[in-house]
Parts: sequence; C-alpha cells; structure tokens
Amino acid sequence: MGLDYCTELVENIVCIDTGYGRKGMVAAYLVRERERAAIIDTGTYDCAPRFLEILDYYGIAPANVDYVIPTHVHLDHAGGAGELIRQLPNARLVVHPRGAPHLIDPTRLIAGTSVVYGDDGFRERFGEVVPVPADRVIIAPDTFTLTLEERTLVFIDSPGHARHHFCIYDAKSEGIFAGDTFGISFREFDTDSGAFVFATTTPPQFDPDAWFTTLDRLLSYKPRRMYVTHFGCVENVPQLADQLRDSIRTFADMALTLVNMDDRKRQIEERMLSDLIRGLRDHGCTLPCQTLEALLAMDVDLNAQGLDVWIKRHAKPAHTSRSE
Ligand SMILES: [Zn+2]
Repeated sequence: MGLDYCTELVENIVCIDTGYGRKGMVAAYLVRERERAAIIDTGTYDCAPRFLEILDYYGIAPANVDYVIPTHVHLDHAGGAGELIRQLPNARLVVHPRGAPHLIDPTRLIAGTSVVYGDDGFRERFGEVVPVPADRVIIAPDTFTLTLEERTLVFIDSPGHARHHFCIYDAKSEGIFAGDTFGISFREFDTDSGAFVFATTTPPQFDPDAWFTTLDRLLSYKPRRMYVTHFGCVENVPQLADQLRDSIRTFADMALTLVNMDDRKRQIEERMLSDLIRGLRDHGCTLPCQTLEALLAMDVDLNAQGLDVWIKRHAKPAHTSRSE
C-alpha cells in the first residue's frame, strides 16, 4: 500500500500532496531516475518532513537527491526549498535568474509576501524561510537543460503569472511541470467534461500578454500532459490551454471595466466568484454553492489583489520599472 498523499503518475513521476492548506491544494513532484531523484516545487517549510518520508518510502537516500527545483519563488512553491537543501546534502537548488537572489537572501521575499498576507498571516501560513547558500544554487536561464541520469529537463522562461517563473519540459514523459503557469485545476472540479482550469493572477506580476506568449511556447513542445501545482496531472492540453486563455482574458477585462471604482478589489472578487461558479455549473459541476465558495475563496482573494495591482500599473502611462 502506498503513502496516501502520493500518486504515481507516468515514467517514475510521483505527485505529492504537500499537505499545505487543505488536501488537494498544493502539489509537488518527485522525479526518479535510477537511484537519483529531483524534487519539483516544495510546498512550505513545514512540508519538508513529508518529503523525507517519501524518499525513505521509495528507497532514495537523501544524498541521492540531486536537485530541488521550485518553479518560481511564491512561497507555496519555494518556501520549503531552503530547508530541503539543508536536509539533502548533495542537492542543488535550480532556480530562475530572477528568483535566485530571493532564495539566497529571503528578506525581500518575506517582506513582499507579508504585504499580501500580513505579518501574522505570513508566520501562520509559511513558517520559516531558510536561506539557501549561494554555492548550492544553479541558475537556469531560458532553454537551460539539466540531466538526471538518462532524463533531460529543459527549462522554459515563463512570464505571465510571475516573471521569476520557469516551466520544465520532461521529454521522457512528454509533460511539462507548469507550476502556476497552466492555471489552477482542482480535482474537485473534474466532471464528465474533464478538468476545469482558471487563471491565477496573484500579485504583483500578472501580465496577460506575456502569459499568452508563454502558453504558445509551452504548446510548441506538444506536451501530452501538464503537471500543475494546484493540483496534479492534467491532459487534453490544447483544450485546457484555450480555457485558460479565456480565463486570463475574462479576468483582465473584468478588472479593466472596474478601473474607476472605489471599492474595485471587492467588486472584482464578487464578479470573479460568480463568473467562476457559473463556469463550473456550465462545466457540469454539481457541488453545493457553499463548497465551491470555500474551495475558491483563497484564490479569488489573491486573484482580486493581483488584478487590483495590475490595473493600477496598467492605468499608469509609460511604466518603466525594471525591478524583479
Ligand atoms: Zn505563484
């Protein structure tokens, strides 16, 4: 009998429920190749012991984990990276060039995240963020490739959700580890029509145009499956990509029509929630409204914050900030 928070996918890829938030919310992946392994996305600091248990279950010594690879530095993806690097003696952190400085010295990352969640909210949600020693960091620019024994991983710069995001193409499984760039697709929303996907417009770097270009690039690899962090493996990739494009467009348009409203964030939240519930009903989802609201609450809040930040920037002429 397997561990109840692991699902074996194809080609020695294991989907791990990190246990962050609720069950089925934040995934990470273990990729095994012969005796070696890589971990893609990490959950938060508190999730680290679970990874060690999983390695033990699969008979992989901590010294045989070569890479820890957060898709981007949002803390549900990268918060546990420093602690894992501390516990896995030979592992190196593989990170986007824009993300690397924030995991080597997380001060600004913690400050920025505290703006979104508040100081207390930060501690409660993310616990600690352990810095990663610079000499254990591999920076992965666009098209960088890495080998894990026989397996080749290709890193694809993926702005749209965040500018410090890459996706990872795994030719062996014809799949892409997509982090948040292929949207959110909770398994609770699966119906006879398949998976349901929507955009995650988390602050502060949502960029719809960049995202459309990124999606075209990801699809050019002709992936058969996407491994998303929220949550698991989805197939029917071209069809879901269309759904995601619609969602990005709908959310951006929603924010644009509300640009002059005083209580813009609240209005975005209300409209987004009803739009998503309507979409789920059309998709054939029969879960009670209250359940849907509970499953969507956190993302609707974050998405509304992200759109609010985006619209402020969008409304300003000739924005030239080059930070991040
Ligand atoms: Zn994210």
